[in-house]
Amino acid sequence: MSTRTEQISQRQRTELQWNYDVASIASRTDISFDEIFRTLAALLLSACPLPESACVRIVVNNNEYKTPNFMETLWQQASYIRVRGVRVGRVEVNHFSEITEAALLKEEKSLIGTVAKIVAGVVIRMREREQFRVLLDSSPVGIYIVRDGKFLYVNPEFQRFMGYTADELIGKNSLDLVYHEDRAQVRRNTVNALKGQLFAPYECRVVSKDGQIRWIVEKTTSIIYEDKRAVLGYYMDIDARKKLEWDVAKYKELDDLKRTLLSTVSHELRTPLSNIKGYASLLLDHQYKLDDSDWLDFVRGIDKDTDRLTVFVNDLLNLSRLEAGLLSVNRKLRSINRLAKEVIGEARIRAPHHLITLEITGTLPRVRMDVRRIRQVLDNLIDNACKYSADGTKVKISVSRKDSDILIGVSDQGIGIAEEDLERIFDPMYRIKHENSEKIPGIGLGLSVCKGLIDSHSGRIWMESKVGKGSTCWFTLPLDVRNIMG
Ligand code: ADP
Repeated sequence: MSTRTEQISQRQRTELQWNYDVASIASRTDISFDEIFRTLAALLLSACPLPESACVRIVVNNNEYKTPNFMETLWQQASYIRVRGVRVGRVEVNHFSEITEAALLKEEKSLIGTVAKIVAGVVIRMREREQFRVLLDSSPVGIYIVRDGKFLYVNPEFQRFMGYTADELIGKNSLDLVYHEDRAQVRRNTVNALKGQLFAPYECRVVSKDGQIRWIVEKTTSIIYEDKRAVLGYYMDIDARKKLEWDVAKYKELDDLKRTLLSTVSHELRTPLSNIKGYASLLLDHQYKLDDSDWLDFVRGIDKDTDRLTVFVNDLLNLSRLEAGLLSVNRKLRSINRLAKEVIGEARIRAPHHLITLEITGTLPRVRMDVRRIRQVLDNLIDNACKYSADGTKVKISVSRKDSDILIGVSDQGIGIAEEDLERIFDPMYRIKHENSEKIPGIGLGLSVCKGLIDSHSGRIWMESKVGKGSTCWFTLPLDVRNIMG
């Protein structure tokens, strides 16, 4: 190969490398636009035929990017930067002394033209980014970008809704803002979005800085952000809609309850009332003709039906107070042993045909409770145990300590409850239908009242049962931490 040919091919290689450098600097997303323009000015100078006696200036949107040796001279070549036909700046090379060689000037002019075109491309990208930013910043929809589970971008609406600043969120784990029960679903959806699988928007709850839990409807898609795959999420606040839906459902539930209540109340009131009226009329009409045993039977009848009415009216009152949040609970440190013993004594009198026993395990600390309310719960559970089991069977009340709770169980050997009814029996007015249920008095309020009372003590209540074998209704009362330690 001749030296001339070698020289040409070397020049071509340098030119190619320069073009490549210029193009790749212009497309970089990890450095600022200012840095891109400054580097392009330096690259242009390095490629000029006489770089040691020249300097470069790029003017874009009235901003100047100059090589460090810049000074304005008389000997200048320049090219305008045009975006869609409109001048947005210029690229210029200033020479410290005049160049007369036309070939050099031509070569330089072509380099300036190339840089001007490249800068025009960068300006377009700048504008697009600006438009994108304006769109994101003014969007009424919350928008964020996440990569590797961490926030890369959050728009102002997202910051306002969540109550955090961008600085507090960028780099933080995005799932931390999702309500814990919804995290698994949101994680799954994000993974699907990254795989590029399309799916419908989904509803989930988020927790804002002030601890408020709110519903949003969200959609996530996979995007390329700053050269790497990321997840773009956008959502709308649907909290008000959700609350309205609940209100409607609650209203419907209350309406159904009212209807059932009215029909049950009339039945449950009428039966004992007409019994009492009947016994009282008999006593009045035949007061002198009745022997002692009839007389006792009638008075017992009045006594029993009055009790039935009292329980019924109390349940109704308590339920309405619980529903309205008006039931007062006055908790004081009291002995659960003593209460259980008192309750058992009275229950034995009420239900003489059942074998009611009490089993207390260990020495138990005192419990912070409203004795009147817990007595009501125990009475109710023992009455149920007796109501739903045959005479002569056992009813056992057990009291023990389980970790930081007192655990109380009321077991019977009665008809039992099917698995599917175990949750629902705590709903107001829910009664299980079976052949004898009509004959067993009750309106399905007792357990819902018990649940309300135990809830107000921050305890739990649940039923375990086997059909035909019997049931145990358990409830817990939390122990006062200071009391346990002491
Ligand atoms: P009710 O006034 O009907 O007894 P509750 O709210 O106390 O109302 O109980 C709801 C329903 O749960 C009852 O109607 C009954 O079907 C069922 N239930 C409650 N306790 C027992 C039990 N110990 N054994 C069997 N079924 C029970």
